[in-house]
Amino acid sequence: MSYKEFTEGIGEGKIIGYRCEHCRRFSLKEGRCPFCGSPIMVETEMPRKGRIVARTEISVAPGGFSPPYTVALIELSNGLRIMGVFEGEGEKVEFSEARENSAGIALVFR
Ligand SMILES: [Zn+2]
Repeated sequence: MSYKEFTEGIGEGKIIGYRCEHCRRFSLKEGRCPFCGSPIMVETEMPRKGRIVARTEISVAPGGFSPPYTVALIELSNGLRIMGVFEGEGEKVEFSEARENSAGIALVFR
C-alpha cells in the first residue's frame, strides 16, 4: 500500500493497516512485521474504536490546528497503538476524520 492509498482510505473514513500472518499483530507500516519480523503482512482495515492509553495537551501547534488541543496514544480494539488528535471526553474513542496540515496527516478521534 502506498502513501496515496493510505490517504485515500483515510478520506473514506477508513484506517488501513496490516495484519501479520505469523503473530497476528497489527501495524500501519508496510513491510516486515515490527514485532516478529515476518515478511507476510496482509492489508486490512483497522477498527474505528479504541481507548485512550495516554494523552497530553499541546499548547504550541503547527498550522491547521488551534492550540490548545490534545494528542493521545490510542489503543484500537485490535491492540494496535497509534497517535492521534483527541477531541472529546472520556476514555473510549472513535475515529472521526483525518486532517492534513503542514506537519502531515493527523488522525482525529472523538
Ligand atoms: Zn508478526
